Amino acid sequence: MVRVRFAPSPTGMFHVGGARSALYNWAVARQSGGTFVLRIEDTDTARNRPEWTQGIIDALAAIGISTADPAFEGPYFQSDNVERHRKAALQLYAAGRAYYCDCTREQLTERTGSEHLGYDGFCRERGLEFAEGRALRFRTPDEGETVVEDLVRGKPIFPNSAIEDFVIARGDGSPVFLLANVVDDLDEGITQVIRGEEHLSNTPKQQLLWGALGARPPVWAHLPVIVNEKRQKLSKRRDKVALEDYLGDGFLPEAMVNYLMLLGWGPGDDREIMPYKEMERLFRIEDVNTSPAFFDVKKLTAFNGEYIRALSAEAFIAACAPWLTEPYAPWGAGAFDAGVFATVAPLAQTRLTLLSEITSYVDFLFLDEPVFDEASWAKAMKPGSSELLRNVRTAYASAIWQPDELKSALTTVGESHGLKLGKAQAPVRVAVTGRTVGLPLFESLELLGRDRTLARLDAALLRISQNQTSS
Ligand code: GLU
Repeated sequence: MVRVRFAPSPTGMFHVGGARSALYNWAVARQSGGTFVLRIEDTDTARNRPEWTQGIIDALAAIGISTADPAFEGPYFQSDNVERHRKAALQLYAAGRAYYCDCTREQLTERTGSEHLGYDGFCRERGLEFAEGRALRFRTPDEGETVVEDLVRGKPIFPNSAIEDFVIARGDGSPVFLLANVVDDLDEGITQVIRGEEHLSNTPKQQLLWGALGARPPVWAHLPVIVNEKRQKLSKRRDKVALEDYLGDGFLPEAMVNYLMLLGWGPGDDREIMPYKEMERLFRIEDVNTSPAFFDVKKLTAFNGEYIRALSAEAFIAACAPWLTEPYAPWGAGAFDAGVFATVAPLAQTRLTLLSEITSYVDFLFLDEPVFDEASWAKAMKPGSSELLRNVRTAYASAIWQPDELKSALTTVGESHGLKLGKAQAPVRVAVTGRTVGLPLFESLELLGRDRTLARLDAALLRISQNQTSS
């Protein structure tokens, strides 16, 4: 039976790299009828916060990994098992596989002549017993090699002589992460450990612990590091890394899932946009590649646009909801009209790449006055715009209020100014919506209605004349 696990530490927002690890584990569990164990590694009490645990569960749910799914088991908490970790440490001591050590870092540095060399084995044969302040070290074999069977990396070989006698319990008796992580995997019956590459260097040590505890180690799979456009490892100080932030900016969970699945894996053909179910069926951990995976926000954004366009009209309206109300929406409570929005939504749906952009497409409908954007104004209002707007205003005062009529009226006015429709539209669009880009103009005007359109044209004319007098 396949049993995989996802073992995050609750120290902050949910990293997209963690999301990828979780998804790969999930795919492996689900495609094999196996189990996905969630284990919260919360023993670092200085850095852990309980609220981050809920954040992890919520983030997993957002990408389709639900606690309600039969494949899901847990969450377990590492902190509940500390006694078990202590016992394992003592078991290794009793079996002669570990020894107490009272060396200080300074002493070690003095002996080896460097701060960076591993432990030199000074206490190996001293036969020290436990006393406060003495660390427990694992006695690594001097000979032979540890071969890590890794489904992604092949079979990296680590000569045992190069693996130092590492600490498994601190001077206060508390077990270290390396051991706790192994003991939990062992107790939870984990068969495959799929995790980020940063843990690869720990793996030979962990594999030795598995053996010393009398168990057969799991199969490992270390996923390639995720890098930014400068090929630097994605870091929360430098890059946007929190899944919550992406969702908050209007990336659809389905687009995130699709994109994250492709960070180091592909289905083997040219397809990229694919429903999760299909990827779950095709995913093979052996096909994950070793080279760093570039987290390309532009590509993710393009994916998101595709996912937005693929939504049904109702689903699109529902997905926009968080951006249409306070505190996000720039209009006051009560100004929003769901009927008007439903009419305009299909026009916006084909244009958005992020859901959060929706407000800037539709705010002209719900604000008393359009936003004023200096750059748009400067771009659209050329010499002669004032006369053009005046003539449009005259035509629109009596035009039939219907897109084709509004278009033909503007075409006629534009021609009289020697302007093609595109050029003639620009000042009208900025006067009415505040921006140079937006929804199709004539449909927008139809929805806005004659009175508000004329009032905005008047306001723009006034602004132009005021600018002229002041300059
Ligand atoms: N708690 C570790 C981390 O968040 C996970 C270690 C593992 O997956 O084995 O990096």
